[in-house]
Amino acid sequence: MLNYRQGLLVRVFLTGLIGLVSFVGDKGLQNGKSEIVRAISDNLTHATVGGITWTLVLVLSKKSVVDNLGSIVVCFFMSSLIDIDHFITAGSFDINDATHLNHRPFLHCTTIPITLWIIMSLTSKIANIPVLITYAWMILASFISHHVRDGNRRGLWFWPFGSTQPIPYYFYLTICMLLPYFIQWIMEWQLTKETEGLSFVNIV
Ligand SMILES: [Zn+2]
Repeated sequence: MLNYRQGLLVRVFLTGLIGLVSFVGDKGLQNGKSEIVRAISDNLTHATVGGITWTLVLVLSKKSVVDNLGSIVVCFFMSSLIDIDHFITAGSFDINDATHLNHRPFLHCTTIPITLWIIMSLTSKIANIPVLITYAWMILASFISHHVRDGNRRGLWFWPFGSTQPIPYYFYLTICMLLPYFIQWIMEWQLTKETEGLSFVNIV
């Protein structure tokens, strides 16, 4: 168990790491020698940021990182696999086709993870399955960290409502670094409410 000082250092370290990994990944994206090097560097950055985002959520929730390693690995791969829609939409495994689409591929629509989050949160409440809340947030953490990073170049896409302007660089970094705090705050509130509901049912 970490004491307060150690816990604070871990939180500061992981928050800074999200910013640093994103910054280094963006440099790789700008300076990569070929399309394939840029795509791999960009995708690895998405995966790492997704994994660290969920690690920080676990730390903030005072949950064991070792016991929950599986959920970190899931967020790592989920954040990476979002880009598979480039190949599906292009109907080709050629990196040049995948990176030169004339419209944004479907998994980059931010309405999708938000809708999934709402459906899973409601199902969790109706069917009394609190773990669904955690799964819903894992999906949202992976997608939002990916979309916000892409959003620096293209904005956020909320089909059918339209898209935002590109997110200014330091604002995107700030959102990515603060995202785990926001997630933990709301998730904790939801889970507490759920538990209170359950104990109320037990008492009755
Ligand atoms: Zn992407």
